[in-house]
Amino acid sequence: TERLTMIIVLLKKAEWESSVLDQVIRVNVQSEEEIQLLQALETQQEWELDFWLHPVSTELPVDIHVPRSSLNSVKEYLHAHNIHFTIMIDNLQEVLNAEKTEMDENLMKERSIRSFNFGAYHPLETIYSWMDTLVAQNPKLVTKQEIGRSYENRPMYVLKFSTGGNKRPAIWIDTGIHSREWVSQATGVWTANKIATDYGRDASLTSLLNTMDIYMLILANPDGYAYTHTNDRMWRKTRSRIPGSVCRGVDPNRNWDAGFGGPGASRNPCSDSYHGPSAHSEIEVKNVVNLIRSHGNFKSFISVHAYSQLLMYPYGYTCNKVPHQPELDSVGRAAVQKLTSLYGTRYKVGSICKIIYQASGGSIDWSYNLGIKYSFAFELRDTGRYGFILPANQIIPTASETWLALKHIMEYVRDHPY
Ligand SMILES: [Zn+2]
Repeated sequence: TERLTMIIVLLKKAEWESSVLDQVIRVNVQSEEEIQLLQALETQQEWELDFWLHPVSTELPVDIHVPRSSLNSVKEYLHAHNIHFTIMIDNLQEVLNAEKTEMDENLMKERSIRSFNFGAYHPLETIYSWMDTLVAQNPKLVTKQEIGRSYENRPMYVLKFSTGGNKRPAIWIDTGIHSREWVSQATGVWTANKIATDYGRDASLTSLLNTMDIYMLILANPDGYAYTHTNDRMWRKTRSRIPGSVCRGVDPNRNWDAGFGGPGASRNPCSDSYHGPSAHSEIEVKNVVNLIRSHGNFKSFISVHAYSQLLMYPYGYTCNKVPHQPELDSVGRAAVQKLTSLYGTRYKVGSICKIIYQASGGSIDWSYNLGIKYSFAFELRDTGRYGFILPANQIIPTASETWLALKHIMEYVRDHPY
């Protein structure tokens, strides 16, 4: 009987534990009414829900990270309204622990063999020191420029790939403006290395770099990125303090001067899509704005996010078509065809407003309105199986397929000067 009691105790413990874990649940929205019911959940602040994908359209699923404390309430709410949901990640902590363990093991391995593993996630300091290695190995092609400091005074580095000239037509690529979208920064690192490696070997890329420059900002939100490693893996925003609020941070992709403060951005500082006190209030955004403006010859602006597998062009702040809609759409479709050719990964193409939702203050709307015609935003893998916690073994496949799309866009820009 003692053993039996023990087993019962263990079973009870397991049952209790499984009922108090953070989960990620998915709703495949069926109707406008369901969207409204889910939007009501979003304003329910005491439940502290973290929407990985927001309830905005019946075209896309809604993914919600539910803290253990509100799991029962949320499930009751959904049942009460007859909203069907599935559990995408039934134990978020377990997935996070596995990611951390893998990172720690990789760090030891990298130390012992003294080489950088492109198929692993890295903290900010490691990425910054890898940049110095890349520059040292490719002194004639790559330079590192500090474009300013973050709110918490971290340097913001741009890698510039150039074979000479003065302010040649240029392509801008930023990754990691939303700090928790780790595959974005990791793809940035792999891509920078790919450009350095292929220059002089790949004829097309070589010809591109003989007439154009490429700028890459790999850690576009350095404070947020550091915070995802030290405090909260799910942090998305900057880390700035908001006067009069206990909540910190602004969504740096709602902070640009393009339909600023309009639909699809929140005025609530505690929201994950808080637009900030004013356009370009975030120093991280301002630093990029200053560089792009003072350079004055960018022809393409590409911003890389995760997840959902989308390639988008302006606008986000309005569903009106941009003047170059047909051209951007066909470039996007051709780019995605290249991407899909490698592993069959499916992407959707369209304007931000049409394909996701109306979202104001986004970077590519700003760049487009500044006159940078070829403005695109990627949402990389996956479609929600892991969401923001994409396993490291998918970094290189993701970066490799994305490279084909990036390369297509860059070649198109080279061949269509304006
Ligand atoms: Zn994002």
